[in-house]
Amino acid sequence: MNLILLGAPGAGKGTQAEVISAKFNIPQISTGNILREAVKNGTECGIKAKSYMESGALVPDEVVIGILKDRIAEDDCNGGFILDGFPRTVPQAEALEAMGVNIDKVLSIDVEDAAIQARISGRRVCEKCGASYHIEYNPTKVEGICDKCGGNAVQRKDDAPETVVERLKTYHAQTAPLIDFYAEKGKLVRVKGQDGVAETSKLVMEALEA
Ligand code: AMP
Repeated sequence: MNLILLGAPGAGKGTQAEVISAKFNIPQISTGNILREAVKNGTECGIKAKSYMESGALVPDEVVIGILKDRIAEDDCNGGFILDGFPRTVPQAEALEAMGVNIDKVLSIDVEDAAIQARISGRRVCEKCGASYHIEYNPTKVEGICDKCGGNAVQRKDDAPETVVERLKTYHAQTAPLIDFYAEKGKLVRVKGQDGVAETSKLVMEALEA
């Protein structure tokens, strides 16, 4: 099963991708996590991506498409995968088609802009494994420490309120058109993001099994 998760920053894509990944035993591929790792390690691709990410813009299509292509060629993707944060533009979606990848379902998690800032201000992400948390809705068992790997669960630099405003603009201008793109192909399912992780997961599972 090949899945795509769409949604504004802070809608819960990463958290739900982790739940789906565990349930269906398919890898979660987060281009944001791959890029953050590249920035941390100072790789050539990380150096190219850094300033875009910090300003809330998208990293150029050719950089991200290359990353994705290499990642889905890995063996663990043979039985399917869940894309979290890719595609983010129509050219990225077209590139995925050109790679011959068949997408089974595209799940959009819908959250209104007015709720995004509050959700993002409480978000924490593990620096080491990329796992997602929220201080209120999905807290770590020990404050600041990732339950899964013991790494530090921290606030992302681009989760600062000024950058979130930019990321939301970017989402509406460049990523939201993918909702129609996949609806026209009959692949889109939509769920309304709830405050609680379990409540959203229930809707997500119902939508995937429908
Ligand atoms: P995320 O963790 O998905 O919110 O991604 C963090 C940042 O990485 C985004 O704001 C973009 O700058 C960059 N990014 C992640 N995925 C993509 C993508 N598919 N296309 C372009 N930029 C991306």
